[in-house]
Parts: sequence; structure tokens; C-alpha cells
Amino acid sequence: MSTESVPFFRPSIGEDEIAAVTECLRSGWLTTGPKTAAFEKAFTDFLGGDVEAVAVNSATAALHLGLEALGVGPGDEVIVPTLTFTATAEVVRYLGAQPVLVDIDPATLCIDPDRVEAAITPRTKVLIPVHFAGRMSDMTTLRAIADKHGLQILDDAAHALPAHHQGVTVGKAGADVTAFSFYANKTITTGEGGMLVTADPSTAARVRTMRLHGIDRDVFNRFTDPRASWVYDVVAPGFKYNLTDIASALGLVQLQRANDFGRIRAERVARYDAAFSDLPLILPPGPADGDGHSWHLYIIQLTEDAPLNRDDFILALKEEGISTSVHYRPLHLMTVWKPFCEGACFEHADLVFSRCVSLPLFMAMTDAEQNRVIEAVRSVLKGVTN
Ligand SMILES: *Cc1c(COP(=O)(O)O)cnc(C)c1O
Repeated sequence: MSTESVPFFRPSIGEDEIAAVTECLRSGWLTTGPKTAAFEKAFTDFLGGDVEAVAVNSATAALHLGLEALGVGPGDEVIVPTLTFTATAEVVRYLGAQPVLVDIDPATLCIDPDRVEAAITPRTKVLIPVHFAGRMSDMTTLRAIADKHGLQILDDAAHALPAHHQGVTVGKAGADVTAFSFYANKTITTGEGGMLVTADPSTAARVRTMRLHGIDRDVFNRFTDPRASWVYDVVAPGFKYNLTDIASALGLVQLQRANDFGRIRAERVARYDAAFSDLPLILPPGPADGDGHSWHLYIIQLTEDAPLNRDDFILALKEEGISTSVHYRPLHLMTVWKPFCEGACFEHADLVFSRCVSLPLFMAMTDAEQNRVIEAVRSVLKGVTN
């Protein structure tokens, strides 16, 4: 048995990625330009067309620009699951609106549609479902709720490429706007980066303007258009959220590999599930019937029969050289978000948080590494190695 430690994540960067970035560096064009235009086009094609893709420098930027384009402002409320990364809620505050935290469905770890409906007030403007760990939220039900109450949906799809709901790809599965992340440990990466997707041309146009200072022409257009590059207007106090061509060159290669990456992660998930079936664990929720899961994270929960608690389990795995993580400490427990949910009850997220652990799951993981994780989990929980 190897004693090498197993990291929680290692990116999968091949010679093609290195060559693509090198070519970009040699090209003389580093910021948003031809590679970014090509990455946006490839992303639209990846989703099967009929949407616009706007590249930005993070999913946080995509969420912020999406909410801005949907017209969210002071006095509005935006519904967010409590079990998510803080970015999902912080963008609501950027615009002076109120995040309204809602509990999850323990069977899916995604936002509970019944609780969404209960949280709607006359001020509610947007719902932000998070496709948690890569499992699609119940978009059919959420869309019906949104339509009934005249709300819009901004998908936080930071975990969810590739995934689909009832055969319809994420990005077109009932949301008005979808935000993807290419952060270093997401399912594909550009180091830092994100993509906003929408089928609405006016939303896309607003986002293109606001991602670069509110200027009515982007920098690439300014240098390729026959009009002089200094002829531009500023139509709004915009942001500085554009993606570099260096990052887009990397993204173009990673996107070509996204489906293979997803297939390989799903194979690793099947191996974990089979190896853990007799342990005192709740295994991660699979996709709903007819949906596709991107398997960004593999999250197990210790049951009451487990011989140790979650924190001790993490320490025991660490001693075996296995790195793990916890997704997430719910937002309602965080200092900044507590004041937004006084009196509210989040018993499902609290229970999941008390017993959940994310195990290493990444495309570059070797069989030997996965075997090490399996042996360590089995021996910590059962004293059994096989
Ligand atoms: C990673 C993540 C984000 C933020 O992505 P960035 O690209 O780092 O801004 C937002 N929401 C969720 C659920 C995430 O996991």
C-alpha cells in the first residue's frame, strides 16, 4: 500500500492546455480578444446553440452581472439556499438587495421548492437555485413557482458543467440567466474565470456592457473595428469583469474535455458507491430520474451508527494521508448572514452540515489514489480493509 498522501483536488492540465496558453502569450494579444470570442462561441455550441455566452473573470462576476441585468436593486429580495458558497448571497448585497435564505431538501441537498414558495413576498424578485455538487435542482417545479409569482431565475451552476434536467442542458433548463465557474478546482478551469449564459439578447447586451466599465464597445471591437479605438461612450458605471485571452485559451481546451471529465468522475462515483454500500454512511444523492449529474463533489454523511463524529472522521482520514473538505458551513451560521435570517429554521442544512464530508473526486485521480481513499474510509469506519 502506498503511503503517498491523496490531495482533495488536483487540476487536470495537459500539454494541449500548455501549448494553447503559450500560443496566446506569443500572439501579442493577452486581454479579452479573439480567444475569448472563440471561447464564448465554443461554449454556446457546447450547450447546443440558441443562447449567448459572455465570458467573465469569475462566477461571482457572472452572478453579479446577471442580477444587475435582471434589474435587482435596493428593496428587492432574492431567494438563496443556505447550503452554498457565500458568493451566491454576497452578490445580492452588492446591489443593495436582501438575500432570503431557504433550507434545502435533505434528499437532494438542493433548495427545497416548498420552502421557496413559503419564502416568497411581494418584494421577491429572483430565485437563485444552486445545482449542489452538480446535481440539478428541480427546475421544472422552480420554474412553475417563478412563473406563478412573476419571478426570474438566476442559476448558480458553479458545480454543474456538464449536467442536464430532463434531457435539457444546464444553461437552458428553465433559468433566465446561468452562471458557470472556471475556478481552479471546478469541473473545468481557466485558473479563475466564469461564463454567463442567457437566451435573452437584451440581457446579454447589458452584461457585455457592464462587464467592461459600461463602455458601449468592448476592447477587442475597439481595435478591430474601422472606427477609431478612442471613439466610445460610457453608458453606465460598469465593472471590470472581463476574461483574459490567456484564460480563454485554456478554457477552449478544457471545454473540449468537459464531457470526458464528467464521464470519468461518474465512473469514480460508481466505484465509491459500491465500496461504501455496507458502511454507516448516507451516500451522495444521485440525479433525479431523467437528469444528468456533473459530480463536481462526492459528499458523504455519517449516520448515527458511525463509530466517530464528523470532525474526528476528518482527522482520522488526515492521519491516513487523505485530504477532505466540508461543503459547506451553511450561510445562516456565518456572521455576515445571520442578521438576514433571524428566527428562520434550517434544520435540514444544520443536520447535513453536522455530518457531511467531501471526499477527493477529480478527473486526474488515479486508481491507486482512489483505492487509498476507499481503504482509509473503510478502516476508519469499520476497522476493515479489503
Ligand atoms: C465556486 C463557487 C462560486 C464562485 O465561483 P468563482 O468563479 O470562484 O467566483 C459560486 N457559487 C458556488 C456554489 C461555488 O461553488
